[in-house]
Amino acid sequence: MVKLDLRGRDITDEDIIKVMGEIPREEFMPLSYHSQAYSDGPLPIGMGQTISQPYIVALMTQALKLRPDCEVLEIGTGSGYQTAVLSRLVKKVYTIERFNELSETAQAVLARLGFANIEFFIGDGSRGWPGKMRFDRIILTAAIPKMPESLLGELKAGGLYVAPVGEGGSQRLVLGEKKPVGCTESFICDVRFVKLVGQFAYEE
Ligand code: SAM
Repeated sequence: MVKLDLRGRDITDEDIIKVMGEIPREEFMPLSYHSQAYSDGPLPIGMGQTISQPYIVALMTQALKLRPDCEVLEIGTGSGYQTAVLSRLVKKVYTIERFNELSETAQAVLARLGFANIEFFIGDGSRGWPGKMRFDRIILTAAIPKMPESLLGELKAGGLYVAPVGEGGSQRLVLGEKKPVGCTESFICDVRFVKLVGQFAYEE
């Protein structure tokens, strides 16, 4: 995976390559998929959801230009694998998942593997983190029609977000930056993600 799907493409951040080389991806998926844990694609994790393709996890993480002092909001905990990668690279990760079952499984795996700098919330991530928090980075791991104000309001000035944005079956992966007034967005690549279902996202 590291040689072909990360270094072999455009992943150049050595910290990300190291972390993804160390985290046992099979721990984040059902036993029946363990033999495919390092293959180049998404895999089912239950509730009709998927653990993302490793290359896309690396690409989104790299786009965020993380620093060790960053506090990151992740929408869509899923298996917890992306959460684990972020957790090793930043000060703290706040992660929201709409399905109880997935969040609880992710929490158990991450605790067993010793990841401690993570806070979990079960609910609609399109509404943002409950309470008055401001984040350095926001990552959406499910597709959204457009970046909602509810999330932009939780991003610090100068903060970055990465999100699959679009209405159709495939989306544009974008890197956004919050400016003193408004945001700028740049295109990374076309992607295909499951939908973010919520008040400021897609309907059920
Ligand atoms: N990054 C994850 C991983 O490594 O396993 C993959 C996440 S999966 C592609 C997208 C996740 O977003 C799913 O677990 C789904 O249940 C979750 N999701 C969808 N709508 C959501 C919402 N409104 N709030 C929080 N999570 C949501």
